[in-house]
Amino acid sequence: MPTESDYKDQLLQLIQLQHMDSQIYDLLTTSETFPVKIQEMDALHECNRTALNKAEDDLKKLQVFKNQRETDMQAKEDLIKKHQSQLFQIKNNKEYSALQAEIHGVKADISLIEEDIINLFDKIDAAKKAVDAEKKAFEDEKKKFDAEKALIMDEEKKINDELQAVQAKRVEVSGSIDKTLLGQYERILRSRGRTALAVVVDDERCGECRMLLRPQIINEAKLKRALVLCENCSRMLYTEQ
Ligand SMILES: [Zn+2]
Repeated sequence: MPTESDYKDQLLQLIQLQHMDSQIYDLLTTSETFPVKIQEMDALHECNRTALNKAEDDLKKLQVFKNQRETDMQAKEDLIKKHQSQLFQIKNNKEYSALQAEIHGVKADISLIEEDIINLFDKIDAAKKAVDAEKKAFEDEKKKFDAEKALIMDEEKKINDELQAVQAKRVEVSGSIDKTLLGQYERILRSRGRTALAVVVDDERCGECRMLLRPQIINEAKLKRALVLCENCSRMLYTEQ
């Protein structure tokens, strides 16, 4: 531990160190929020894809259905051809009119299918337009998202650069502090988070935990000859005078 005469100077170094450690703590806290923000943005952006996926699915279903109807029509047309060639082989009138009636029925089916197919063409056109609109909306959103994301990433880089600079300065300052004192300071910092030092406020309270301090403790802190801890939060006390 430093001698009594050195302690005052060491305390000044600790105050400088504390200033940096609070900065580091705040910068780290801010820095940790960036990956979360970016993750949330990505998730939100994926949600926007749902509408596009649905429009694409709708279009695909209509196309499959149209293909089916076209296959159905082809089968019916083949059937008519088959029946028509059968007509020439039939000698019996009754059978002839029965087959003709069947051909007539199949032709009626075909015109229904044709109507279906025409409707499906219209629906497919509309579905294609819907896909294009959703695609455009998705891409516009993506541009916005990418711009926002770039801003966040710039901000993240700025914070991380600042963090590195403070950390480098901290190494310098901590090098001039007595190892035992520094060890004790760092233990308190680890357990308390943001601050290991506490200034005496209103000449009666710990500036961090706000507990009233005994006059003897305050006097010792004012002397700045040796380490004085808050009896409540265990932080290193100092006075501003
Ligand atoms: Zn305290």
